[in-house]
Amino acid sequence: MRAYFLLAVLAASAGLQPLRSWDGQGHMMVAWVAFQHLDAATRAKVDRLLRLHPDYNTWVAGIPDDEAHRDQRLQRAMMLAATWPDEIKQDPHYTNDGENPNGRPAAAQNIGYADHLQHRYWHYIDVPLAVGGAQGRQPASVNAQERIELFLAALRTPPSPGDNTLAALQSYDLVWLLHLVGDIHQPLHCTSRFTPALPAGDAGGNKVKVKPTRATHDTELHSYWDRRLGASNDPDTVAKAAGRLPSVSRASASNRVSAWVRASWSLARNTVYCAPIGDAAGPYPLTAAYEQKALTTARKQVALAGARLAKVLAATLP
Ligand SMILES: [Zn+2]
Repeated sequence: MRAYFLLAVLAASAGLQPLRSWDGQGHMMVAWVAFQHLDAATRAKVDRLLRLHPDYNTWVAGIPDDEAHRDQRLQRAMMLAATWPDEIKQDPHYTNDGENPNGRPAAAQNIGYADHLQHRYWHYIDVPLAVGGAQGRQPASVNAQERIELFLAALRTPPSPGDNTLAALQSYDLVWLLHLVGDIHQPLHCTSRFTPALPAGDAGGNKVKVKPTRATHDTELHSYWDRRLGASNDPDTVAKAAGRLPSVSRASASNRVSAWVRASWSLARNTVYCAPIGDAAGPYPLTAAYEQKALTTARKQVALAGARLAKVLAATLP
């Protein structure tokens, strides 16, 4: 835990921000919501797999491993597991293998914790949003949607007794799943916008600058949306904030990954790329109305992501 916080503090003070994902708070909120929706049997299955993560003991340090603290341990482990695919972007033991998976077989591998690639291109799917006569480009074939579907399929296989190899792989797949379901509910993780001014695409809003109403500096449109949920790294603070999210019923949550992506893409088109955001690189000064809408949208998306995550886990884990 200490190492985790230290890293977070160092990363924040050095200005190192993950470029393409909700910040840690958003991911922890998704996991917190999912935990609340999970039934006891599914919780037990998730617990068994998360215990196989190399950082598990660090995540739950200070929480006794007994019946009375079972839920507290699992909730904490799920919240920190959901941030792990971003944590490895700051970890020198993991190689930054770039943003383009095309033509590299290792980009699509699913080999578990022996894999020390960062796989940054797993965090998003750039469905083109082409405007003003610009030509869109199709997303890479290895992407967030394809990974979520792959990990769900891998998690469906019942482990045979004593097969620790499969269980360890499923642990890795589950941790990525906890993260990626959150990512694709950030609308800018599901698109790249192509305009005459940005004909190569804006990489999910990373090439567009905005100036928030109370900020002194410009920031990228992408990271502006990443940070709508807050930037706390403390799981207890985040759990309290997550308790104030709008409630979404697990029963009404769709479990089709392609539908989640399509809905996020529509939000990008209708809610993210709208006035005062223009068709070029900005910087665009934001309005109070835009900021309010962004906050409401981000909170709803995180609540929805948690409900959907719980539903697919219950339907998938054997
Ligand atoms: Zn991510």
